[in-house]
Parts: sequence; C-alpha cells; structure tokens
Amino acid sequence: MSIQNFRELADEFGTPLYVYDGDELAGGLRELRAKLHPALEVFFSLKSNPNISVFALLRANGARAEVSSLVELRTALTAGASPEDVIFLGPGKSDRELEACIAAGIYAIVAESVDEVGRIDRLAAEHAVRQRVLLRVNPATTPGGSRLTMGGKPRQFGIDEAVVLTLRDLPTEHPHVDIAGVHVYLGTRILDADTVVANTKYVLDLAERVARETGIPLDAVDIGGGLGVAYFDGEHDLDLDALAAGLNPVLAEFVENHPGTRLMLESGRFLTAKSGTYVMGVRYVKESMGERFAVTDGGTHHHMAAVGIGSFVKRNFPVALLDRAADGPVGPWHLSGPLCTPNDTIAKNAALPPLRVGDLIGVLRSGAYGPTASPGLFLGHGFPAEVLVHHGTPHLVRSRDTPEDLLRPQHLHDFSDHDERLRAEL
Ligand SMILES: *Cc1c(COP(=O)(O)O)cnc(C)c1O
Repeated sequence: MSIQNFRELADEFGTPLYVYDGDELAGGLRELRAKLHPALEVFFSLKSNPNISVFALLRANGARAEVSSLVELRTALTAGASPEDVIFLGPGKSDRELEACIAAGIYAIVAESVDEVGRIDRLAAEHAVRQRVLLRVNPATTPGGSRLTMGGKPRQFGIDEAVVLTLRDLPTEHPHVDIAGVHVYLGTRILDADTVVANTKYVLDLAERVARETGIPLDAVDIGGGLGVAYFDGEHDLDLDALAAGLNPVLAEFVENHPGTRLMLESGRFLTAKSGTYVMGVRYVKESMGERFAVTDGGTHHHMAAVGIGSFVKRNFPVALLDRAADGPVGPWHLSGPLCTPNDTIAKNAALPPLRVGDLIGVLRSGAYGPTASPGLFLGHGFPAEVLVHHGTPHLVRSRDTPEDLLRPQHLHDFSDHDERLRAEL
C-alpha cells in the first residue's frame, strides 16, 4: 500500500490502527494452496487473528477453520464456514464449548486427554448423536528446528504418544464418539522448510503406527504446521518452493496409501502476519541523555509481540515511516507508547529517518497475534480500530473501543451506607 493510502486511512479511521491488506491476505493463502499438494486442506487458526472479516476473506479463498473457544467457533460459522470444515481444539474445553461443537455438527473435536474423550462421549449421548474425535498426540520426540518445540516433553496438550499406542479399547468404551484420526502440533515460527518436512514425516508415520496398534481408523490426520514468517534481522521467510519440493512427495505417498483420509494443515501466523500493519501516529519527539524517542499513540497494549518473542535482547519488528519520504539520514530511534511503564517500547534503536510530530509509523508484518494477544485493557485504552483494504477499498472491520464500551461491563457499587456509618464514627 502506498504512502497516500496510509495517510488517508489514518485521517478517516484515526490512529492507532490495524490495517490488513486483503490482497496480500488472499494472495498468501492462494499461493500456499497452489504450491502444496492439493489433498492438503489449510485450516486457519483463528487464534492468530480472530477478526470475523479476516476469516471471511480467507474462507472465501479456501481456508477451513481451526477454533479454540466459543467465540471463535461462532465467528467461523457466522463468517460462513461449513461445519464440515471446522475443528475445535484446546486443552481445557468447557461443556458449553463441547456441546456447541456437537450441536453445530463440526467435523471433529480434537481431544487432548482420555478424560475428555469420556466427556465428549457423554455429551454426544445426551444429544443422541455421534461425534467425530481426533486424538491430539504429544509426540515422544521432537524432530527439532522450531522455536517453540512441543514434542518430547511433559505437556498439558494432547495424550502422550506411548499412551495413545495402547488405547485399543478406547473406541468400544466410547460408543458415541468416532475416534477417527490423529492431530499433532510440533511448534510455531518454523522458518526452515526441511523442519516442516521432517515434522510431517514424523506425524504421518505416527498416525500409521497409531492406526496399526489400536485399530483407530484415519478419517483425518492433522499434521499441525507452525509455518513462520521472518520478523527479525537475520531471519528469512520460509522458502515455499523448497517446502513444496520436500513436502509434496511425502504427502503424495501418504495419499496413495490412504486415499480417503483428510489431510489437514493448521496455520495462523503464516496466513495473516504479512498482511497486517500497525499504524501509529507520533505524538511527541524528545531526547533523553543523547537518545531519541518518538512517543506514539500506539503501544504494546495493542502489540505485545513487538516487545520481543522469547529473547533477552530486544529484537525489533520491522518498522517504517509510512506517510512521507525520508528527509534526512537514518539513525537510531526508540519508539514508545502512551503506557506508564518502560516496557511500553515497540522498538529500540530502530533505524528511521528524522521523525516529526504527526508522522505515521508502521509496525510491519503485524497481522498475527496483535490485539488478540495483547493487554488491551491496560490503562483503559481499549482495542484499536481494524481496517481491511480489499481491492483498494477500506472496510472498517472492528470499531475502536470507546470509554463507554470499557465502562459498560463494570458495576458501580453504592457505598453511601458505609460512608454514612464512617462519618458517624468519626
Ligand atoms: C497456536 C496454534 C496454531 C497456530 O500456530 P501458528 O504458528 O500461528 O501457525 C495451530 N495449531 C495449534 C494446536 C496451536 O496451538
């Protein structure tokens, strides 16, 4: 999007503001689907960006939905997802969530414990239906390479691989569920194609072992995903051609041996990160002990990820001056926000040209884990507006929180009785 676009969007919708480029959003998904084996269905993890219009656009371009809460489930269905294309997972599902899944007739609930299979069985019986269930497996080892490795450790997620392989009686003990597949999620932010290929091989092999040892059929195998995007210096985007070259033969072989099995990939970050820009206006420019600060109207209450992911040294998200050309040499700037904490620092020593009050600064690649993963209520600022630009037309897809929105769920208790007694005592 151009310099003029961002200025116009800021004038129309105010700042701070999340802007999603719909063409990038749709294009990224289309490219992924075009390059990977056609049998692989892409399930969008709404966790990464739960905006209903973001999902609606992805759905229109072929995405299924992977949801983990009642609201995400409702979002997916309201945005037009077919129940057949929805799965629900999460380590602590409520009865209400499970009943909503059963009532909606979603394709599968991913069970994360043997107890949970029992609970789904009971609820399905009450509704006089059968519910398909995939078993989430906590793998015994991790093929390695992702930033957040999920395998080979004690986890609250899934059922240990060694246990799953012994669950021969699980189907007969639970007559109202169809245990019909396996789900494994091996990590997030994976930038190396070979790691994704190795993970996938592991999962497909594990699924076959589970089927062989337990007799559980493979209606579906969810290979997880965790495809990353580059944020920091020295990182490189996942090479999709290399991924396709490594992954497609592996998938093709599995499809040949299991022609009826649905193959699922889950992806949040990869599908949304690049399309999003967090747009902040510069409120003040100042110097402190020789270092330059731009104090903006945006901050970590909307973009906690920019504080840094799992590292002691702060690494900056990519940032850019959005609304005009640079008119001086690039130098280090700290970008801070309106919160009363030193942690409210979006970037440290970011290389930017001279900044002025009123400038627009963008935190790029911010379409994933933005507001949804940030403490938006801190200092009562609330969440920002979100705009999705589709074929050049901006659409407001979330209104900015107002003070009324933030006060509405709160209840003012009347302490006047207490005040009178207190006054009498004094
Ligand atoms: C968070 C999560 C995802 C999405 O991860 P990304 O790295 O954003 O693609 C997918 N599956 C599971 C089980 C998750 O917990």
